[in-house]
Amino acid sequence: MDLGIKGKTAIVCAGSKGLGYGCAEALAQAGVNLVINARSEGPLEEAAAKLRAFGVEVTAVAADITSEAGQAAVLKAAGKADILVNNAGGPPPGMWSDWDRDDFIVALDANMLTPIAMMKACLPAMMDQGWGRVVNITSQSVKSPIPVLGLSNAARAGLTGYVGGTARQVAPSGVTINNLQPGIHATDRAVSLDGGVAKQQGISMDEAKAARCETIPARRYGTAAEFGAMCAFLCSEHAGFIVGQNILLDGGAVNSTM
Ligand code: NAP
Repeated sequence: MDLGIKGKTAIVCAGSKGLGYGCAEALAQAGVNLVINARSEGPLEEAAAKLRAFGVEVTAVAADITSEAGQAAVLKAAGKADILVNNAGGPPPGMWSDWDRDDFIVALDANMLTPIAMMKACLPAMMDQGWGRVVNITSQSVKSPIPVLGLSNAARAGLTGYVGGTARQVAPSGVTINNLQPGIHATDRAVSLDGGVAKQQGISMDEAKAARCETIPARRYGTAAEFGAMCAFLCSEHAGFIVGQNILLDGGAVNSTM
């Protein structure tokens, strides 16, 4: 399917690895020029080189997207972005009693206030030109909270509420905002989460992964490529009537009809 977005420009935050990279690759396959970002320069440049093989322009900006300076550098490199994919690393797991105000501020900054700031910066130009696409990577934990990820549950629920209202305010200008909710996917983040379970329960990584797979009807972890394909579709010409939605990619793990 031709996604109809060849030649457009996308910002993909936190896009050197994992789900962000999956989104960047699917957009590159659709002919979209990219500004990708991550903190570590080496893996970011490696990702940029792989993406250039699709024949698109790729600018790599090594910066912490949760900092104002990082956001400014990414926005400056992009100039006018037609597409924005918001992403950042997820907060650490723990118990409700572990977290103080400062922990919440860090999590809210990364997973709520940073995507809001990026949207606030990009939306006016998208609205002026009458076309834009924003996809926020959130989590299945918005629909089905994960007890050990209280910081993530809180920050992503806040972002989801913001998007619910804002998406409907910008839709008349041809701009869509939607959230993708990953269940478990085979990325470094999954390795880190499985590592925590293995340590806590005194089991191997393979056992932790096998136990988690048993809770997923698809009996496997998702891939960054299939996640990216859904992101690219939401950024496509064909998705202009999808507004303010929260789309689960979780292999059926959340047991719910709506
Ligand atoms: P990942 O494989 O660990 O990749 C994270 C990417 O983000 C890397 O490119 C990393 O590069 C970059 N990054 C992290 N913090 C950043 C920052 N402050 N500024 C700029 N770049 C940053 O993670 P993932 O699995 O793709 O997860 C992406 C998001 O989805 C996370 O928020 C995660 O919590 C959420 N999620 C993931 C899953 C899953 O199963 N994978 C499930 C639910 C939700 P650098 O380290 O070099 O900056």
